[in-house]
Amino acid sequence: MTTRMVPNVIAGLDAGADTPLALLDVFSPATGTVIAQVPMSGAGEVDLAVKEAHAAFPAWAATPIKERVQVFYRYKALLEENIAELTALVTEENGKIASEARAEVLKSAELTEFACSLPQIVAGEVLEVSRGVECRVERFPLGVVAAITPFNFPNMVPHWSIPNAIALGNTMILKPSELVPLSATRIAELLHEAGLPDGVLQVVNGGQEAVEAICDHPGIAAVSFVGSTRVAKIVYRRATSHLKRCLALGGAKNHLIVMPDADLEMASSNIVASMSGCAGQRCMAASVMLAVQDVDAIIRRMCERALAMVPGIDIGPVISAAARERITRYINEAEAAGAKVLVDGRGITVPGHEQGFWIGPTIIDHVTPEMRIAQEEVFGPVLTIIRTTDIDHALRVENASPYGNAASVFTESGGIARQVMERASAGMVGVNVGVPVPREPFSFGGWHDSRFGVGDITGRGSIEFWTQAKKMTTKWNREAGTNWMS
Ligand code: NAD
Repeated sequence: MTTRMVPNVIAGLDAGADTPLALLDVFSPATGTVIAQVPMSGAGEVDLAVKEAHAAFPAWAATPIKERVQVFYRYKALLEENIAELTALVTEENGKIASEARAEVLKSAELTEFACSLPQIVAGEVLEVSRGVECRVERFPLGVVAAITPFNFPNMVPHWSIPNAIALGNTMILKPSELVPLSATRIAELLHEAGLPDGVLQVVNGGQEAVEAICDHPGIAAVSFVGSTRVAKIVYRRATSHLKRCLALGGAKNHLIVMPDADLEMASSNIVASMSGCAGQRCMAASVMLAVQDVDAIIRRMCERALAMVPGIDIGPVISAAARERITRYINEAEAAGAKVLVDGRGITVPGHEQGFWIGPTIIDHVTPEMRIAQEEVFGPVLTIIRTTDIDHALRVENASPYGNAASVFTESGGIARQVMERASAGMVGVNVGVPVPREPFSFGGWHDSRFGVGDITGRGSIEFWTQAKKMTTKWNREAGTNWMS
């Protein structure tokens, strides 16, 4: 593996290679070795990117949407043609196993496909409101917009914003996570190859300083953010204080309610896949299982499944040594407080990759709602089990969480399923589904501390966010008195 320099992409240029910016090492989570260096951009680079995006905006906004989406038809084909390389890039920088990385890229293709359908969806509205008087609504792009993304889906999360925002006529600045900057450059290259004009998408690498510059820049009209709740609050406050639109998706603490009548195989396989997939580094991952009465047979089966997983083959590493230590601390603390570790992923190594950031699937029983591990986002392959007496008890625990991304129930009872669908305090709810991500065209977005701002980030929800409506009233009927509009 070679160390490479990650460029900023500004007006189609390799703008990062020979600038005097501070550089940050990018690590392979699987091997713990440095695989690249990323420039830590500041206000100057953001300003340059905004200028280029402004220059590109008038021509792009004036291009009819049916033409704009042709770029995304070609781009979707390029994602599919290059899927092996894109998958390998995600695995290299994020650590997730190949099947998960491939699923991520396929999801990016699905998100792009939705953007291709936008011309069919955004047709305006028109009505003759009085004799010869017509009101119509058309949606217009906002101008230069920005997307700030996290480390856990280096390919997919940028696609939550890029295809829709750009197909709707905006020009954009992407600030990827400095922990996983490689996929973003490749996304920009493939969009260029698909025919996206220079300046329509810029990639500015960096961390806090670049994000602050994006929030503060008067030339940026809207910001989408995906990351932790702590930073989502900072970004939402800062961007809106500069009178920008902001949609900031934060962290999660997802609860899975398991009823005694749940199907043994379906529940155990879905729950283990949800808590351990992407090494638990998903905002939709199962975090707390609310066991209603006796579900011990399901728990035993879950433990068998978790124990059968081979790190390095069935589960990837977590993103950093610091993340592994944080996750381990949560487990240690819960154990010390009286919880019972049924499956222990601490201290594992993968032969040949001893320096990687490994932690295996971990299942902890008899956790209580007061424990820190039951309340805070762990963001690792850890499932805590809280014992509850009935569905009301389980829902009380779920409802008390400040987060509200996802919740699920495993049951064969339609009545219980309906109760959870109505009463769970989360934006995305599943029945017998461990990871209830709404597929396109449905929108993705949580509630409470999992999302700040109005609306959802994908699907139809994103149309409102990335555009503004113009209401136009016209009268061409010259016969005065036949209508009431003056
Ligand atoms: P993070 O909040 O640390 O970083 C996200 C982005 O913010 C990065 O681009 C980073 O450079 C920037 N950033 C970090 N600290 C900053 C600061 N102090 N000021 C300004 N910008 C800053 O998140 P992460 O660790 O990369 O990602 C994991 C988190 O993202 C988890 O909490 C996870 O739940 C969340 N997430 C949420 C969703 C969702 O849909 N709600 C989806 C994916 C990930």
